[in-house]
Parts: sequence; C-alpha cells; structure tokens
Amino acid sequence: MKMKKGDLIIIVILAVALISWFIINNPGTVENERQIVIETNGDLYKAITMEEGMEQQEFHIELENGKYIDIVVDENGAYVKDVVCPDKVCQKTGLINRVGQSIVCLPNRVVIYIEGQEESEIDGISF
Ligand SMILES: [Zn+2]
Repeated sequence: MKMKKGDLIIIVILAVALISWFIINNPGTVENERQIVIETNGDLYKAITMEEGMEQQEFHIELENGKYIDIVVDENGAYVKDVVCPDKVCQKTGLINRVGQSIVCLPNRVVIYIEGQEESEIDGISF
C-alpha cells in the first residue's frame, strides 16, 4: 500500500488529536491532587489525599501531658475541632482547603497543611 505525503500528514494530525483528547479527558491526571498533611513535632503523622465524596475522618492525637488535638478532614478540607491549647489560634484558623494554606499549633507543635498542585481557575469558581 502506497501512501501520499498528504495522507501521512492527516494520519499524524489525527493521532495527535486523539492523544491530546485522551490526556485532557483522563480523570486519572494528578494535576489537581491535594494532600492534607498532619505533622507532630516535625514528624509526619498522616497524609490524606483529598477526594470528592470522601468520608469524613477524625484524628484524635494524644499529645504530651494529657493534652490532645482533634482534627477533622473531609472533602472540604481540614480543621481543628477541639484542642487543649493555651491560645487556640489553631482552632480559630478554621477550615483550610487550598494548596499552601496551613494550620499551626505552636504550643503543641502540630502543623496541618495542604500540599499539591495549585488549583486551576476553573476549580476555583466551581464552589
Ligand atoms: Zn493551638
């Protein structure tokens, strides 16, 4: 089978279009993957991948001297529900859900932050 140069160009264009379509429509892309990371005393305690429709999880972390911190994590983000903390700045921070945001509890040395790719404009207005 002999092909003309023009046919080859059309095949190449079709192939590129098809590949692009798969890349754009692939739901498995990790572009907007966000992880909620909880650290205590500078060590990783837990990293939870944020997913739509994920079940709410609550982490009760025992701290020194009978203190504790309760952290709630769900598809909307993470927040400190309850804590034994002198200033409660961590609890007052409220919900975090964007990459780069963090909750810091200095007295208890607990840090909660969100890491991942920056959200696109489209995701930002979908709320
Ligand atoms: Zn605190």
